[in-house]
Amino acid sequence: DRNTGSTGRSIVGSAELFGRGQRVITGGNARLSVFQRPHPIYIASGTGVNIVDVDGNNYLDFLNNFTALIHGHSFRPVLDRLHHQLELGISFSGPTKLEVEFAELLCRRVSYFDQIRFMNSGTEAVMYTIKAARALTGKLKIAKLEGAFHGGYGPIEVSLDSAPANWGPRSAPNAVPYCEGTPEWYTADTVVLPFNELGATREILEGNKDKLAAVIIDVLPQRAGLVPIDRSYLAFLREFTARHGIVLISDEVMSFRLSYHGAISRFGFEADLCAFAKIIGGGLPIGAVGGPSQFMLAFDPTNGKPLVPQSGTFSANPMSMAAGIAALESLSEQSFQRFDDLGEHACSSLTEMFRRERLPYSVTGMGSMFRIHLRPEAPKDYREAHAAPEQQEKMGMLIRALQERGVIVSPTCQLCLSTPMFTDHIDEMVTSVREAAQMVEAAR
Ligand code: PLP
Repeated sequence: DRNTGSTGRSIVGSAELFGRGQRVITGGNARLSVFQRPHPIYIASGTGVNIVDVDGNNYLDFLNNFTALIHGHSFRPVLDRLHHQLELGISFSGPTKLEVEFAELLCRRVSYFDQIRFMNSGTEAVMYTIKAARALTGKLKIAKLEGAFHGGYGPIEVSLDSAPANWGPRSAPNAVPYCEGTPEWYTADTVVLPFNELGATREILEGNKDKLAAVIIDVLPQRAGLVPIDRSYLAFLREFTARHGIVLISDEVMSFRLSYHGAISRFGFEADLCAFAKIIGGGLPIGAVGGPSQFMLAFDPTNGKPLVPQSGTFSANPMSMAAGIAALESLSEQSFQRFDDLGEHACSSLTEMFRRERLPYSVTGMGSMFRIHLRPEAPKDYREAHAAPEQQEKMGMLIRALQERGVIVSPTCQLCLSTPMFTDHIDEMVTSVREAAQMVEAAR
């Protein structure tokens, strides 16, 4: 029965909702990344580390809405602030005290932030950093790391999940369009850098330095393998961009999870502009751009029309501000140290289990985020992390087998921790991964 797994969990309620959804929502559900064959599970509720689906099945949530829910589900301080704000008003056409307080909190934490602006998603945040870089420098080109995902803004949706035949040479990757209908100038103006390859990157940047507005990086790019950036590579990018008047953008939409002081700060560097989102919304939609005032002035409307007008009906809405303040106030420096320790425990337990059970799998990651790869050697970049069609099929089986055992992970088998997690939850997950992997290997 396609609606009951090997562990006997019934997901007929989800199957029925998917059928109804398919009639009125293109593809049956509203997010590409949650689609799963034969259909996703439909979720009814969540508390702490657990979610419950519409059929009453319980799951350990290692996905946490794609890393956004750093405190897991129904976190009491967030719920309390939201209930309070609900009575005062859910959105206004003017600013509130909350956005000032939240911006103050973020500027205190990230040393190079003088100012912040809020928006509603990570995609928007990245878009505004790119617009600002172009406006401030008067140049057009953007350089990005091969395979790195930066959201749905067209010009940066380049070199992402493309077929190996389109990649081009490792030392000079092609700018491959992601969507049908991509304008030619998106790929012409986007320069693709080979991740952590310093010599080749220097050569590409030297050849484009007069036309580059920005270099956008993610210090832990998920789709490029969740491999941390080399410190020497980052040091080079920081020095090169500063020397040539190129804006260094740090996309921390996901990697802001890496430290109390922000992701690039964990490596000892500062960006010119930082795009962040996810955890700072406490579970509600949010995006933000932060940086030193000489870069943030691109958005400043106090002397007339800014270089980059930035607006948005729900930007800095009080519900997202309230939830974000509550979520971040509950994250101390010790919370991040604890994530590092638990993350280390998860990665070493998985690696050791794969070795002991002779499973040809490996693990990458940092802090509270890690990813399982269906290859014996941990990948070093996007090309090595790329799964061939046969591997993708195997990955689908593994993820479904994990779901049947009550563990939720991302479609690329990325996992993340939340503050209510303990070593017991991690050990339970490792046991489920072992069982699921053994089942997948036996089936082939
Ligand atoms: N940048 C990175 C690194 C991301 O991981 C994501 C989303 O996963 C985005 C940008 C887009 O953020 P959002 O989904 O909030 O638009």
